[in-house]
Amino acid sequence: QKQVFRISTGSANLDKLLGGGVESMSITQVFGESGAGKTQIAHTLCVTAQIPTNGYPGGKVMFIDTEHTFRPERIRHVARRFSLNEKSVLENVLYARAYNSEHQYELLKKFVGGKFHEEVGMFRLLIVDSIISLFRVDFLGRGELVSRQQKLGQMMSLLQKISEEYNVAVLITNQMTSDFRTFPLLNMDENGKPVGGNILAHSSTTRVSLKKVAGNVRIAKMLDSPDQEETEEAFLITTGGIRD
Ligand code: ADP
Ligand code: MG
Repeated sequence: QKQVFRISTGSANLDKLLGGGVESMSITQVFGESGAGKTQIAHTLCVTAQIPTNGYPGGKVMFIDTEHTFRPERIRHVARRFSLNEKSVLENVLYARAYNSEHQYELLKKFVGGKFHEEVGMFRLLIVDSIISLFRVDFLGRGELVSRQQKLGQMMSLLQKISEEYNVAVLITNQMTSDFRTFPLLNMDENGKPVGGNILAHSSTTRVSLKKVAGNVRIAKMLDSPDQEETEEAFLITTGGIRD
């Protein structure tokens, strides 16, 4: 019997919003404008996922980076905050850079089927930052929207399967349409909403929206959750990662 666990985000407020942290055997989607703190949350979780707590043994992390924003130096800073060995914390983060949407899918399949198969049980967190940026580049035209959504749906199914089969927490980040000014055509009727339409929304168990307030203050709002209220909480982005 698999025991569902929750990984702390480093912020007690955000944990409270999430009902204790990012939940295993499900997909948590964090979305917001550029600079909202999506990647900072992901970096912080790379470290907190390795810290054992009551009933949670801690484990390794896989980080799929599509925007080239992963920074080992950030992981080191967060590790220092928690008085952990920086080198071993970094060694427990399996990093993969995805270059296109197909590659992103292949990386996930390789993760469960390839040379990591034996090890996969040691992983407790899988991050895809961001889930959709490469799809938006690969499926540019309006005529390609249907196939984009289809491929996106496949990827979400695979993520859901991984989360349940191996009891891992899956964290995906998603952009707002205004993030992506390079392709105005695609933004015309989607301005200011999370990207990816119904498929991305419905295939995430939990969705949290982030907003910049001032300086390093951010507000997180719970949008869809099977068991949490739709409330708001504040958190900070600091050198040591996110916190209250
Ligand atoms: P998103 O992924 O949502 O676009 P990020 O997670 O990259 O946004 O967050 C960017 C914010 O994090 C910026 O406001 C930046 O100032 C802040 N930030 C980045 N690195 C640090 C750091 N080392 N210390 C404090 N704040 C940082
Ligand atoms: Mg980011």
